[in-house]
Amino acid sequence: MSTTPRIAIAGAGLGGLVCARVLQRHGVPVTVFERDTGPRSRAQGGTLDIDADTGQAALRAAGLFDRFLALSRPEGQEWRLYDRHATLIRHDRADEDDLSRPEIDRGRLRTLLLDSLTPGTVRWGHSIRAVTPLPRGTARLHHHDRTTEEFDLVVGADGAWSRVRPALSDAQPSYAGVTMVEARFDDVDRRHPGIARLVGRGTMSAKAGGHSLVLQRNSDGHVRAYITFRGPQDWHAGLDLADTEAVRARLLARYQGWHESLLDILRDNEGGFIDRPMFVLPVPHSWQRVPGVTLLGDAAHLMPPAGVGANLALLDGAELARAVIDHPTVDEALDSYESVMLPRAADNARAARRMLATLLPDTDSDEAVFPDSLWPDGTLPDPRPARTG
Ligand SMILES: Cc1cc2nc3c(=O)[nH]c(=O)nc-3n(C[C@H](O)[C@H](O)[C@H](O)COP(=O)(O)OP(=O)(O)OC[C@H]3O[C@@H](n4cnc5c(N)ncnc54)[C@H](O)[C@@H]3O)c2cc1C
Repeated sequence: MSTTPRIAIAGAGLGGLVCARVLQRHGVPVTVFERDTGPRSRAQGGTLDIDADTGQAALRAAGLFDRFLALSRPEGQEWRLYDRHATLIRHDRADEDDLSRPEIDRGRLRTLLLDSLTPGTVRWGHSIRAVTPLPRGTARLHHHDRTTEEFDLVVGADGAWSRVRPALSDAQPSYAGVTMVEARFDDVDRRHPGIARLVGRGTMSAKAGGHSLVLQRNSDGHVRAYITFRGPQDWHAGLDLADTEAVRARLLARYQGWHESLLDILRDNEGGFIDRPMFVLPVPHSWQRVPGVTLLGDAAHLMPPAGVGANLALLDGAELARAVIDHPTVDEALDSYESVMLPRAADNARAARRMLATLLPDTDSDEAVFPDSLWPDGTLPDPRPARTG
C-alpha cells in the first residue's frame, strides 16, 4: 500500500482474527470490533477439522501452523458410520501422523489467534450497527453507541447475521429445511461408556432417511451430539425449549425404532438441548464491488455445515490480508480478493448443498441411504456388522 489504510474488522470469529493477524504480521494496523463482551463470555462450540489446503494454509500465512499442530488432534479424524440399527457400515481409522484434516476445539483455535494479536486489537463488547459506503471510497462504521467512525476498509467478518452485508447486498439467510439440536456429554469415558464406544476417537454418524445422529469427540473427554433432521423450523411447536424433558420426549418420538444404544444420545445427555436451525445464503451470493467494504466467511457465504465453513473463513481472512499487503490501493486489493473468493464460495456452497441433500434426503423412508458416490473409490473398508451398546 502506498499509504497505510485505516482498517476495521467487524467480528472476532476465526476469519476476522486470522485476517487481523496476517495484517499485523506485515505491519498493517487494524482494529477488530466484537459484540461479545470478552474472550470467554460465550462457549465457542465444538470441534473443527482443519483442512490442509484451506484452513491450514491460512494458519501457515499467520505464522501459527506449528502451534496449531501442537493443539490439534489428528486421531480425531477417525470416523464411523452406522445405520439406525447401530450396524457399523463404515469405519475410517485415523493415522496419528495424517495431517490432512486434524481436529481442534474451536475455543482453542480462537484463543491461539487472539493471543497472537497485539494487545488491545480487539475492542470487546462493541457491536457494529451498520456500515455506509461514502462517495470518496471510504466507509462509515456505525457503532452501537450511535457514534460513527470513518475507515478506508471495513471487513464484515460478523457471521451469518452480518450487519455489514446490507452495504453490499440485500441477501438474507433462509432456513435450509434442516435443524440441528445440540446436546453434550462430559467425562464421557468414565460417565458414558456407551457413548464413548460409539464415537471412538473422532466422529460417528448414524443415518436413516432424513434423520441422523452425530457425535463428535472434543478434548478432555467432552462429546458434542448433533441431532439433525429434515423438518419444519418450528418442529418444537407448543414446547418450551427450556423444558428439557419435554424436548427429549419430542426428539425420542422422531427417532422411534432406532437402536437403543443410539437413543441413549437423546436420553443421557448433560444439561439441556440447544436448537440450531440451519440457515443458508442464496447461491451464488455475489455483489457489485463497493469501494471500502467487503465480507469474509459466513457473512459472505453462509452454507450448510459440511466441514468447510470455518476453513473457508480462515482462508478468506488470510487471503484478504495478503491482498491488502500486496496491492497499492484498497480498491485493487478488493478486486483481487473478491475475484477469487466469490467463485470459490459459490462452488463450495453448491457442494455443501448437494452433500446435505444426499446425507439427509427429503424422504419418508426410514432406512439409510448411502449412495456409492459418497465414496469415490466405491469401497466400504471394514464393513464389520457390529452391534454396539
Ligand atoms: C454445528 C456446526 C458445526 C460446524 N462444524 C464445522 C467444521 O467441522 N468445519 C468447518 O470448516 N466449519 C464448520 N462449521 C461452520 C463454521 O462454524 C462457520 O462457517 C465459521 O465459524 C464461520 O466463521 P466466521 O469467522 O465467518 O464467523 P463466526 O465464527 O460466526 O464469527 C463471527 C463473529 O462476529 C461477531 N459478531 C456478530 N455480529 C456482530 C456485530 N454486529 N458487531 C460485532 N461483532 C459481531 C460474533 O460474535 C462472532 O464472534 C460448523 C457450523 C456449525 C453450526
